[in-house]
Amino acid sequence: MKAVPTPAERLRGMHDRLLAAYGPQHWWPARTPFEVVLGAYLTQNTAWKAVERSLANLEARGALTLEGLRSLTLDELQSLIRPSGFSTRKAPALRAFVAMLDAEFGGSLEALAAVPTAALRQRLLALPGVGPETADAILLYAVGAPVPVADEYLRRIVERHQLALPAPGRNRRGYEGLVELTLQAFAADPADRRARLYNEFHALAVAVGKAHCGRTAHCDGCPLAGDLVPAGPPAHKVRV
Ligand code: SF4
Repeated sequence: MKAVPTPAERLRGMHDRLLAAYGPQHWWPARTPFEVVLGAYLTQNTAWKAVERSLANLEARGALTLEGLRSLTLDELQSLIRPSGFSTRKAPALRAFVAMLDAEFGGSLEALAAVPTAALRQRLLALPGVGPETADAILLYAVGAPVPVADEYLRRIVERHQLALPAPGRNRRGYEGLVELTLQAFAADPADRRARLYNEFHALAVAVGKAHCGRTAHCDGCPLAGDLVPAGPPAHKVRV
């Protein structure tokens, strides 16, 4: 008898289906690691289109670099990043990141990237305005560490496909549960490929989320429709 795939195996299969449907996503949409950091802060609770407007403002002011950002007053920074919302919170948070980088790593992102991943994650989480999603996005996309990133799109997919019970909440515990499920999904892949796989998987989850799996699910034509569980009790129960 054919074994029923586990939730982690189904999630791993979703990566392959999405990659076949959408192709490589070439994330993160940034030219430098520091732009990744900027984007990771600015995209909190905000659509990427709005982030692009803030990044364009920063670029016009020559502030897409560490040096450029240091040259801005708090008021200037708040004004430039206003399009992406929460600027009174995000501007001080960005300045706190730069202050930490300058004080502890000589202003070098390379020096920061040399810190072991678990310790660096804790350091980032201790910064103001940095939750797990922002910390993990910086680790994966700016530092290249093999760390999964979970987000609202992945939460919806996991919930709607009943990959975890109870459904993961929008809190830190729910986030860590999604990360744990993703770690399990790619555990059999070679260690030196995992950063690349986590990179692609997060980008693909965003792609399917934008195309099909937003606040309302539009399953017709979705590359993951074949994985939907028929009505009735789910085959697996995983606590997250
Ligand atoms: S739109 Fe439907 S099939 Fe696609 S990921 Fe969401 S729940 Fe699954």
